[in-house]
Amino acid sequence: NSNRYLIYLGQTGYGLPDRDYYFLPQFEKNREAYHKHVKNMFVILGNNEADAIKKEAKIYDMEKSLAEFAMNRASQRDIQKLYNPYSKKQLQDTVKKINWDLYFTGIGLKTPDTLVIEHLSFYKNLDKVIAKYSIGDWKEFMKWRLIRRASGYLDSKTEMESFEFYGKALSGAKEMKPRWKRAQNEINRNVGEILGKLYVESYFNQESKDKVSKMVENLIVAYRERIASRTWMSEETKKEANRKLDKLIKKFGFPDTWKDYSSMAIGTNSYWENVKSATVYEHNRNINKLGKPVDKMEWGMTPPTVNAYYNPTTNEIAFPAGIMQIPFFNAKADDAFNYGIMGAIIGHELTHGFDDQGSQFDADGNLKMWWTETDYKNFTEKKKLIIEQFNSFVAIDTLHVNGELTQGENIADLGGLTMAYYAYKKSLNGKKSPVMGGFTGEQRLFIAWAQGWKNLAREAAEKQLLATDPHAPGKFRGFAPLTNMPEFYEAFNIKEGDKMYRPQAVRVEIW
Ligand SMILES: [Zn+2]
Repeated sequence: NSNRYLIYLGQTGYGLPDRDYYFLPQFEKNREAYHKHVKNMFVILGNNEADAIKKEAKIYDMEKSLAEFAMNRASQRDIQKLYNPYSKKQLQDTVKKINWDLYFTGIGLKTPDTLVIEHLSFYKNLDKVIAKYSIGDWKEFMKWRLIRRASGYLDSKTEMESFEFYGKALSGAKEMKPRWKRAQNEINRNVGEILGKLYVESYFNQESKDKVSKMVENLIVAYRERIASRTWMSEETKKEANRKLDKLIKKFGFPDTWKDYSSMAIGTNSYWENVKSATVYEHNRNINKLGKPVDKMEWGMTPPTVNAYYNPTTNEIAFPAGIMQIPFFNAKADDAFNYGIMGAIIGHELTHGFDDQGSQFDADGNLKMWWTETDYKNFTEKKKLIIEQFNSFVAIDTLHVNGELTQGENIADLGGLTMAYYAYKKSLNGKKSPVMGGFTGEQRLFIAWAQGWKNLAREAAEKQLLATDPHAPGKFRGFAPLTNMPEFYEAFNIKEGDKMYRPQAVRVEIW
């Protein structure tokens, strides 16, 4: 029911980025570095070396026990598996070792009558893990959780130790970002709508917003035409797909009403106190939503964010002010460029409403099957092809892209670029596209797309992203959708034997 708020309980408790880090061979070095890091933190907390080693070993063991019953990222794409409504009594019967009334009182709530357990195996085994260790162990565990959360906001020695592990060992960074950048990130993360208001006053461009919202309308027209031309989908399902577009909520730039931060205490005494204050504010803001109507106008990103999103439970797309600028958008550039990157991003977000997850939510944001059985089977067959395509990409040494984990984003890229292409064609009104710099408009559109994904990552960071990020690395996103599109083959006259040629039988076309 997308019209009410519910409490979700998820898996948690480990300090490495994902449960796989505790078990898979490619993370052996990360595990070693993590042992050292946790030990160092306990030394900083005032323990002698021997005690710190003992505590670290225990904590690692506890985290690993929790991770054992956690779901991996790829299997978490299955929305149905994550939706397990539980009553108060069922929860207490499942996890007996936690006094849930006490827990919920502690966080400022009454125990809810119904909540959702996202990761069932984790909660079903939690009693077992809790019983395996003493109360004293759990106290040390909680200390570790707290210092880990606070480490970036304390003295520079603690901050450096945290950076040594999370920055250097895990992400391959050579040095910390300059202080002003770190401070700016924290402000954006904690009080993003204060920063956002200032950002919008200084940088928001009405002309860009008008052009982008016009592009969104054109993309939606192209989308409806593509839905109509799908031969693998029945009229019945098409009607529902169109209804999702009818009811789509569109957000541009910044929220209509800004968050009111007046109840938050911010001072100049302590950085950590400020962060705590912001965290408490956000916690209270969230729990106060319970029992109230869902605010579909709330934003999931701050205005300066260079990104965009689709939210399946509100059926909304949002484009923060930050993305409406070079290199993603340029009000002065020609349409081929703007459709190739901004247009494709708009199409990408729209397609999230029809990817492996979005396809399971209806026009009102409810988890509900709106497809006929045959149509959904056809869709599933098509998904398999794109999963296989990305599984075949080798990112580092023997490490492949995870086609299962990245399927939603890859479906969105392919659909998004396709819609952008057809929206661009429509904008030409039947005329031939202008040639610039020796390239036709169609060619420049594809070039703009590929250029949008130019990025660099160190190997350690890329390894982490491969394991945790639902997006494939940029170097694959830049070209993979093109190799599936007949429109690209036509624009560049691609033939068998060319590097980007793929045989017809394995090319994917979904939306
Ligand atoms: Zn996406």
